[in-house]
Amino acid sequence: MMSDRNNPFRIAQQQFDMAADILGLPDSLRAVLRVPQRELTVNFPVKMDGGGTRMFTGYRVQHNLGRGPVKGGIRYHPSVDIDEVRALAMWMTWKCALVNIPYGGAKGGVIVDPKQLSLGELERLTRRFATEISILLGPERDIPAPDMGTNAQMMAWIMDTISMHRGYTVPAVITGKPINIGGSLGRVEATGRGVMLMVREVARRLGRRIDGLRVVVQGFGNVGSTAAFLLDQIGCTVVGVSDATGGYYRPAGLDIPAMRTFTDRHSFRMLEGYNDPGVERISGTALLELDCDVLIPAAIENQITEQNADRIRASVIVEGANGPTTPDADRILAERGVMIVPDILANAGGVIVSYFEWVQGLQEFFWDEYDINEKLERIIVGAFNQVWQMATERRLTLRTAAYLLAVQRVADANQTRGVYP
Ligand code: GLU
Repeated sequence: MMSDRNNPFRIAQQQFDMAADILGLPDSLRAVLRVPQRELTVNFPVKMDGGGTRMFTGYRVQHNLGRGPVKGGIRYHPSVDIDEVRALAMWMTWKCALVNIPYGGAKGGVIVDPKQLSLGELERLTRRFATEISILLGPERDIPAPDMGTNAQMMAWIMDTISMHRGYTVPAVITGKPINIGGSLGRVEATGRGVMLMVREVARRLGRRIDGLRVVVQGFGNVGSTAAFLLDQIGCTVVGVSDATGGYYRPAGLDIPAMRTFTDRHSFRMLEGYNDPGVERISGTALLELDCDVLIPAAIENQITEQNADRIRASVIVEGANGPTTPDADRILAERGVMIVPDILANAGGVIVSYFEWVQGLQEFFWDEYDINEKLERIIVGAFNQVWQMATERRLTLRTAAYLLAVQRVADANQTRGVYP
């Protein structure tokens, strides 16, 4: 059971309150932004391969619609619950505002372990869930995308389901689609690419050489494995990675391309069975405490807590996951001088290229990959520079500066629009 202390929604509200206090937001506006605007819970049956049906529960939460249609992924994981989805939706609001793309925040989730389902069951679950939440969706309303446990194929099923209901193809209702039905070049790699760019920028600001920078990555899914791959390419030494099967450590540097090839070929893209005599197997917990320069948590929430914050040896943390560091750990790490590039900035590459995918779909004009990567870099590095400048001028942590910028933008939009009626 999750302790109340580690409840993601409680943490998200705590982070918001901190920003609202510093900004001096009026109580009435604070009350609006502290809670999600809309929440939908759906319970629905899915026909299983063995005959019979099984009930599933899912959610779609729209946190704030002030700056535009809402945006955010759909997660399939056994530990999904309403408070996690609320937190993730609120973090999407701040993320979109921070990188200044015209969206509010949303998130969805289904309580399910996708590894336990057949492809047919997954398709039926996805199409039924899409139908259940379709009352909220639309290119001008709410645009989902992949998150943990979901991928481009599932986005294709959602796009097809919504299109079948409407009787015409609606590509812009979802992002993270396969390229052959209107997906964007560079979208799959976008979150990991953004993480790589943030490592590069923070190293530059700290006067550290990229070449030989020792990096540890927790999580070897889409975000972690792409970040590790791109960091390896620009000259970093990736000394440790982990996934749900444990940690893999090699002080002289892991062969990341070989590990990626391995996970591409093996079931559920796991590292279990990866064999390299130079590689030491360690626990996932020990991985976080390895001696390194940069630690990239790219798995799930609440990985760096007051329990292990004292033992983190990295001098920089770049948050590939959403909510990997608790506020207690944040405080301990700040006191110890560990710099954190916060999630709402560090992992924003995904939603930035989702925005490009949506724009390309709406205008039915597609860009090449060079253009996409270049625009992504301009936006995310621009946001990093703004955060860095505010943090330096006002002596704040990067997280606090990022929150001040983001919350202020959302507050301004809500204030400009006024209260209806
Ligand atoms: N799930 C991703 C995130 O947490 C991407 C969301 C999107 O592209 O809409 O940022």
